[in-house]
Amino acid sequence: MTGLIYDPGRCAGHNKEGHAEHAGRLAQLDLSTLQANVSLRAATDAELLEVHTLEHLQSVKAKCASGPGMLDADTYCGPESEAISREVAGGLIDLCAQVQAGERDNGMAIVRPPGHHATAQRAMGFCLYNGVAVAAASLRQRGGTRVAIVDFDVHHGNGTQDIFYADDQVLYLSSHQHPHYPGTGLASETGLGPGVGFTRNCPLVAGSGDAEFLAAYRDELLPALTAFKPGFILVSAGYDAHESDPLAGLMVTTDGFRILVQMLKDSAAQLCEGKVVFALEGGYHPGALAECLAATMDVLQS
Ligand SMILES: [Zn+2]
Repeated sequence: MTGLIYDPGRCAGHNKEGHAEHAGRLAQLDLSTLQANVSLRAATDAELLEVHTLEHLQSVKAKCASGPGMLDADTYCGPESEAISREVAGGLIDLCAQVQAGERDNGMAIVRPPGHHATAQRAMGFCLYNGVAVAAASLRQRGGTRVAIVDFDVHHGNGTQDIFYADDQVLYLSSHQHPHYPGTGLASETGLGPGVGFTRNCPLVAGSGDAEFLAAYRDELLPALTAFKPGFILVSAGYDAHESDPLAGLMVTTDGFRILVQMLKDSAAQLCEGKVVFALEGGYHPGALAECLAATMDVLQS
């Protein structure tokens, strides 16, 4: 059975009308196919501090408490935003723990706000806390698990890369449009010190579609994943590389995403007893996002 976190009502407590990352992103999902069975849960300070600094926690908390405002030029916050971001991270920890324990076959977290741009010490790119990084750190800390993070969001996950850049126990793999926000993610960025070789970036030029997108995985990223021999695969699942997405210029179709999700599921089956959890990052065309999430759930549940 697939573990699913889906609580759009709670996540809607973080919202700004007119912003790309608004609560309406999840409005076109077909609720009848989505039976949530894992809950959001506030991550503890100790869990967040595995990847974030205390100063970051204090600053996010203080800015959210002072009312609606901006954490950086792109990243809004309100009174509930800190708590919701914390609950997304804690829910992801719990979902991953259940999959790791064999209580669920695999998992999907349809959550917002996203997380992969949040670095150890700052919020950016619509992201407050880096839920995927927090969950990866928890898996590694509790079970000594080697975690691979696959990030197919159209934007480079600079925060996640940064957090694990010198780490040889967490592999970070990313495909993204380049040049594009946030500007990082060159193929030459491969890690630091003991982490050299444990970061792999596949930048794609604007206009790239299914062929280039899937080739990046088939030819470069999945071979690196296989060589790493992960015990668990976490996916930063952003669907903003979709051809309909308003924020970027890749031309991936819903079928392209379905094929990639199947490839990742097959890799997990081959490498780590199917242990894979997808966590929503970007995806700013609500109709396309609904289609892609339905395709992802289809593949995970089949
Ligand atoms: Zn994105």
